[in-house]
Amino acid sequence: MSSKGVALVTGAAQGIGRAMSLRLAEDGFEVVVNDIANNSEALDALVHEIQAKGRVSSKCIADVSQEEAVKEMVEQVVRNHGSLDVMVANAGIAGKDGSFLEAEWDRILAINSRGPFLCYKYAGLQMIKQQRGGRILGASSIAGKQGIATQTPYSASKAAVRALTQAAAGELGRYGITVNAYAPGLIDTPMLGSATGGAREAIVEEFIRTAPVKRIGVPRDIASLVSFLASKESQFITGQTISINGGMFFD
Ligand code: NAD
Repeated sequence: MSSKGVALVTGAAQGIGRAMSLRLAEDGFEVVVNDIANNSEALDALVHEIQAKGRVSSKCIADVSQEEAVKEMVEQVVRNHGSLDVMVANAGIAGKDGSFLEAEWDRILAINSRGPFLCYKYAGLQMIKQQRGGRILGASSIAGKQGIATQTPYSASKAAVRALTQAAAGELGRYGITVNAYAPGLIDTPMLGSATGGAREAIVEEFIRTAPVKRIGVPRDIASLVSFLASKESQFITGQTISINGGMFFD
């Protein structure tokens, strides 16, 4: 299959990012997978898995909250693969669950909001230069549409992605670049375990009881949406934060 272009996925070592990297490779994109240095080996394994299927892939270690690192990451993608056509700003952290009276703000906002801002900015600049449009995607959350008590900074960080997505779509549309976000409900990834701690089982049970589809999500669910949003077929969709939550919450 000839290449459909080059996709960069941040936070790709596990969970949703890993699933969407595999899916975008299946769809025919060259896929550059990003994560932090601690997850370098997991990225190597993912790159090998994609290459074993006859696709092109490489890794790029960078902390998405650092401006210079994101700028260099985009430069590295273009140097090694020739272009950047799809940017998926997926990396995120959950932070500790608890009252906002004791919450940590800076670290969560730095990774979950400044990260996507920097990814959108440097991808946008590169795509404008290429003059052939592009797709920019970011990770919001059900918590970004309706703030969740005990997850104050996380909720705020994901609401920021929603507004960022609308604002960036407004600026980049004239260049043929669409900007959208996905807002997952409960998805079965390592984050789900770390975010919910000992309450994981109770939270999952409650979600299943309430959500019309009667299951929690799996990373493949989000990968399917991203596959569509990254494709040419999604050309008339921009500025949207698309809920993907089994009907747990209706917009
Ligand atoms: P995960 O914790 O399983 O994976 C996130 C990845 O991001 C990890 O590999 C981590 O190392 C990486 N990462 C963290 N900080 C980084 C940084 N500074 N730079 C680069 N990479 C970094 O999480 P997931 O469940 O796969 O979530 C993916 C995205 O979807 C996140 O933005 C998350 O907030 C969002 N989301 C997840 C759920 C869910 O239920 N799992 C629900 C709503 C939204």
